[in-house]
Amino acid sequence: MSKSPSEIDRFFKNFHQSDNPHEADWMAVILFVRNLLSRLSIYSDDKKSEIQFEICEQLMENDFSEKRLETVIALLDGYLMQTIGALEMEEALAVEKRTAGLLINEMNEMISSMHGASTRQDIRLNTFQEETVEVIREGAQKSHILSRVRGMFKEIIEEFREETRALNAKAEHFRVTAEFDPLLTDLHNRRSLEAHLRETVEEFARTGTPLTLMMIDVDHFKKVNDTYGHQAGDDVLRALARIVNTHAIRHSGFAARYGGEELVVVLRDMDLGRASATAEALRADVERYDFRVRTNGKLGDTPINFTVSVGVARMKVGWSVGELIGAADAALYQAKNSGRNRVCSAPN
Ligand code: GH3
Ligand code: MG
Ligand code: MG
Repeated sequence: MSKSPSEIDRFFKNFHQSDNPHEADWMAVILFVRNLLSRLSIYSDDKKSEIQFEICEQLMENDFSEKRLETVIALLDGYLMQTIGALEMEEALAVEKRTAGLLINEMNEMISSMHGASTRQDIRLNTFQEETVEVIREGAQKSHILSRVRGMFKEIIEEFREETRALNAKAEHFRVTAEFDPLLTDLHNRRSLEAHLRETVEEFARTGTPLTLMMIDVDHFKKVNDTYGHQAGDDVLRALARIVNTHAIRHSGFAARYGGEELVVVLRDMDLGRASATAEALRADVERYDFRVRTNGKLGDTPINFTVSVGVARMKVGWSVGELIGAADAALYQAKNSGRNRVCSAPN
């Protein structure tokens, strides 16, 4: 009757890929069925299978509307109420003095079975335990205890929601770390550039969508480092990265750090003429840029002017990624040799 873990995992994966405004809530439900349920001692094994089966049936409907979410939460809530009934709290409270100890043990057992998920949860559970034990000792109303247990259930769901959010944030952080340059954070790193080029070159082979590549190199950058120091050199690169990225975004391009002070912009659906004009606009922006070194939060009095040379090439039929980069590199070499601070295009 129960669903196998791999079935839930498969569903879990699919769901994660889908785009749902209540994703965190659904994830909480899934995590509850998948991870937490087996650790709860208040349910018998049969009951656990039944809950798991019912919830999975709901999930398999592939309806992730708010209404369905409410139904599922109500279902879980219902199970909790049934179970509390089965624990015969009412009776236990009627013979309060004798059974309060048992009830406290039951609570303690239930709570300790839930420990270990995270320190934060453990602390919250401990607080709950202390407060609940106190309520039982005082022989409070059954409704009071029930509302506390229900409150705890909601808190657990909320806790899982938070965990889901934190996991998503962590995943995003890893994605950014994996794809972007650690120094020039506006730009993709070399590995990400290679993946992007593989994809776009494949697309070019399949559909013939024009593809151009710009190779950008700072002119006499060694002199910047030698004159102002490596730190100032880094700041110049960061400023350049921002300019390059702005131009790339404007044309839905992909900006990356190829290495050192060499940057690349990949442009899709743009012919060589327009790509050269885009490179020229970028070059002129860099030349005009009034860069100043910042020391102890204060901007320097004199600007550090820097320029770039750019080589542009368009992808041709039968070329590999390496050949496209090679053509842009050759055009860059030509720009350097003919005086720097200029754009050269590979033969069209
Ligand atoms: P050219 O006009 O011929 O390009 O002259 P150049 O001095 O820029 O020569 P080249 O491109 O060969 O030199 C690159 C220099 O860039 C060498 C290296 O010290 C410096 N560099 C590379 N990466 C970084 C970096 O991340 N930060 C800093 N500050 N300097 C870097
Ligand atoms: Mg260089
Ligand atoms: Mg250089």
